[in-house]
Amino acid sequence: MNQILINYQQVRQRITDAVNKADLEVVEPCLLAVSKKHSLDKIITLAKNGHKDFGESYAQEGVNKIEQCQYLSLIWHFIGPIQSNKAKLIAEYFAWVHSVDRMKIVKRLMKFRSADLAPLNVLLQLKVGDEASKSGASLTELLEMAAAVEVAETLSLRGIMCIPPSSQDFAEQKFYFMQAKEAFDVLKNQYKQIDTLSMGMSNDLEAAVECGSTMVRVGTDIFGKRPY
Ligand SMILES: *Cc1c(COP(=O)(O)O)cnc(C)c1O
Repeated sequence: MNQILINYQQVRQRITDAVNKADLEVVEPCLLAVSKKHSLDKIITLAKNGHKDFGESYAQEGVNKIEQCQYLSLIWHFIGPIQSNKAKLIAEYFAWVHSVDRMKIVKRLMKFRSADLAPLNVLLQLKVGDEASKSGASLTELLEMAAAVEVAETLSLRGIMCIPPSSQDFAEQKFYFMQAKEAFDVLKNQYKQIDTLSMGMSNDLEAAVECGSTMVRVGTDIFGKRPY
């Protein structure tokens, strides 16, 4: 069997094991395959095996892949930092965006998403931990953005994404993910349609699942080390 399919099955198994270990109310999260910097043939291998959701971090690279994979009817998620001059491209091509971290971007996505398309699914990126280098909004900023997304007809407010500081310590990983879970519960209390908490990557997906992640984003452990 192809190595990518073997890796994929192993990641699926890790998710299932983590769900089984966790509290009863934890449900199996969706798996987003993060294909940034990986070649088209790897995406196609997974797509032909029935996988639909793929994540990209660079707008132009993502758009090129989306155009070349149109015949596969995949669901594309933008998960990288958003430069405001790329908001138009993202709004035109992607189905989801996970990394909305400031009001300027909300406004641009709102404006550039065509009313002919399904509303763009929006996750607001919460800053967790206090590393200055990590992007994301405070809870206050996040609630302001949520109100703006909620009233935008071309956008659909779906939840929260976070990228905590990387740690090898399970307790520390959970400490960060619990902050996102708490913010998620606050948001969900205000907006009943909220259903997505995007957190957990190759290195920390078990901790994220235990803290209630509904979508894990896995690159390396499916596709291998990124080529550059
Ligand atoms: C690259 C990336 C991932 C995947 O990380 P891996 O460690 O390769 O699993 C997940 N989320 C975001 C936002 C990323 O940029």
